[in-house]
Amino acid sequence: MRDFRRRLLARPDALMLELGAGGELLVARLRTLLSMAMLSMPLVNLLAGGKASETMVGLFGVVLAIVLSQAWLALARQRQRHRWLPWATAAYDVSLTTLVLAILAVDSPVTGLNSMVVWAFYLVSIAMTALRNDGRLTLFSGALAIAQYGVLAAAIFALVPNPDQLASIDYGTVTASNQIQRLVLLALMTAITATIVYRMQKLVDMSGTDGLTGLPNRTWLVHRFPVMLDAIRGQGGSLAVCLIDLDYFKRINDEVGHLAGDRALRHVVGVLRQQMQEGDWLARLGGEEFALLLPLPLGRAWERLEAMRRTVATQPFAPEHGAELMRLTFSAGIASWPQDGADLSQLLRRADLRLRHAKLEGRNRVLARDP
Ligand code: GH3
Ligand code: MG
Ligand code: MG
Repeated sequence: MRDFRRRLLARPDALMLELGAGGELLVARLRTLLSMAMLSMPLVNLLAGGKASETMVGLFGVVLAIVLSQAWLALARQRQRHRWLPWATAAYDVSLTTLVLAILAVDSPVTGLNSMVVWAFYLVSIAMTALRNDGRLTLFSGALAIAQYGVLAAAIFALVPNPDQLASIDYGTVTASNQIQRLVLLALMTAITATIVYRMQKLVDMSGTDGLTGLPNRTWLVHRFPVMLDAIRGQGGSLAVCLIDLDYFKRINDEVGHLAGDRALRHVVGVLRQQMQEGDWLARLGGEEFALLLPLPLGRAWERLEAMRRTVATQPFAPEHGAELMRLTFSAGIASWPQDGADLSQLLRRADLRLRHAKLEGRNRVLARDP
């Protein structure tokens, strides 16, 4: 429960926000489609012999909704991410529903409060926040819907002079208990959507985390790397990609067994972690291979990793309590962006080349240049 609350109220990390931005674009496209489909409503009204004034008001509303949906779509498409965009569009979706209900209520109070189709757009708006992967947004959208609808219903009850106006053949009778049930349904929908967001965030985390070491895995790195690169490009910074492979690790497994081999991996990761600084990222690519990202130019990255290599070599691993200590070492190759490659795979290929040379030259060393 505490994890649920913490996750829902926390600002999602960059990767989750990037996934959410994809969701925002999807929602913007859905909104455009829905707005276009709404065009049929005033047309049907006209064909069914409805009042011309109603058709005109309806047409004006739908055209406005289409224009606004296009504006939201254009903003969601931009490469530059606006932090306020999901909040603005969630508020827009809920408020548009309230506005349409209010317009309906001016004509006939019972339609405003008992119309099912328009009211259901509150539920749609809340459900769509799940695509943005941000629990705070779901809670905001749900709270806004409850507040707006609560005020609308209370206002209509207070303003209608004659209770007869709260009953109609088409829409039934408006009762206070019925309205409270609607508010409860909105709260329920918010809770369910928040749970979906929570589960989705957990699954994204789990699929990006290595079970043995708790480090981010290759999937995480592949998805995260473009976001990181964008940020570094924006700041005019540098990035070094270090490929690390433990030396003679098969022997460790042969000598002390696979389980102790697993502990040895965790030991090395622990030593590396102690030396990491703000802005560094370590991921397990698989087996006993790791990628370390350092926001540094090549020369300084080499100095940092060389210091890490020396520390790992001087902190031996104890397979069991009282057992003989084992020295673990690693070899590494470093490639730097943008000189050695423009994307992750080019950089890893270059780093791998240098890593293989480090192995050939006798292991337990870090190479940052081609021989
Ligand atoms: P080199 O110095 O050339 O890298 O020698 P190496 O023995 O480390 O060779 P290589 O990198 O090809 O082999 C990696 C070995 O690491 C193979 C496998 O037995 C072991 N290994 C990979 N993943 C795990 C793991 O999760 N746990 C354990 N215990 N061993 C693993
Ligand atoms: Mg290997
Ligand atoms: Mg190895």
